[in-house]
Amino acid sequence: MNTVVKQNELRRTSAHPSNNSIYKPKQAGLIFPTIPDFETFAQERQHRKERLVAACRAFALHDLDYGFAGHLTIRDPEFPELYWTNPMAVHFSLVKISNLILADHTGKVVEGKYALNRAGFVLHAAVHEANPDIVAMCHAHSVYGTAFAALGRPLEPITQDAAAFFEDHVVIRNEAGAVAVEENAGLSVADYFKNVKAAIHQNHGLLTVSRHSIEAAAFWFIALERCCKQQMLVEASGIKPLMVPPTAARYSREHVGSEYIGWLHFQPIYEQLVHSSPDMFE
Ligand SMILES: [Zn+2]
Repeated sequence: MNTVVKQNELRRTSAHPSNNSIYKPKQAGLIFPTIPDFETFAQERQHRKERLVAACRAFALHDLDYGFAGHLTIRDPEFPELYWTNPMAVHFSLVKISNLILADHTGKVVEGKYALNRAGFVLHAAVHEANPDIVAMCHAHSVYGTAFAALGRPLEPITQDAAAFFEDHVVIRNEAGAVAVEENAGLSVADYFKNVKAAIHQNHGLLTVSRHSIEAAAFWFIALERCCKQQMLVEASGIKPLMVPPTAARYSREHVGSEYIGWLHFQPIYEQLVHSSPDMFE
């Protein structure tokens, strides 16, 4: 019973928080992405797996790989206590439907042939378990995000893009720089994700989460990495940047920093991948 209630709550929060935005065309009949409806869990599972693979391929496109580091997770729609994730030691550019793995909270692989990235899953499982509303999560040891994380500082609202993260991310100093292989290491960071979509883990790197979709979590990771790069470029100029005022930053965050907008930003990336990398569906 408990599982069913939890699952229904997840479906409500993960399905369609909003198909509306300032970008939605007022003119009828134009081509514009829409979030699909699903009649069965099997359809929704297939959709989530395809988008998880695309998110991994997008991470490859954006040079977010570092050896075997980096993990992306999306809950199964029917069994939300289980997560689909990328296989251990497979390059993001080679992730495909057939090599995805399904794992439980303890890191046990319940479907798929590949091993699981233990260090990554400790963090992801702890965050998912402590936050039933979070459906997807991304983490990678990206160049700029990891460098910025060494500063132990939050992102400043120096651009409209950075304002998408204004008061919507945290800096986590717990377990800074210590690889998270013990389960309690994950637990000590899991509570930081209440009401935010991203975290900068000091001396480690970036993490993004979504209550909406793997597409949103993946896009906000790509965006956060870019914002870290931009802030460091601006600071390297030696000229003090002008900040977006807090009221304007909040306004921008509401309009261009939502889960739906993250999902929408991912659509052109997805379409590009469908054309360039049809092997992702194998
Ligand atoms: Zn890591």
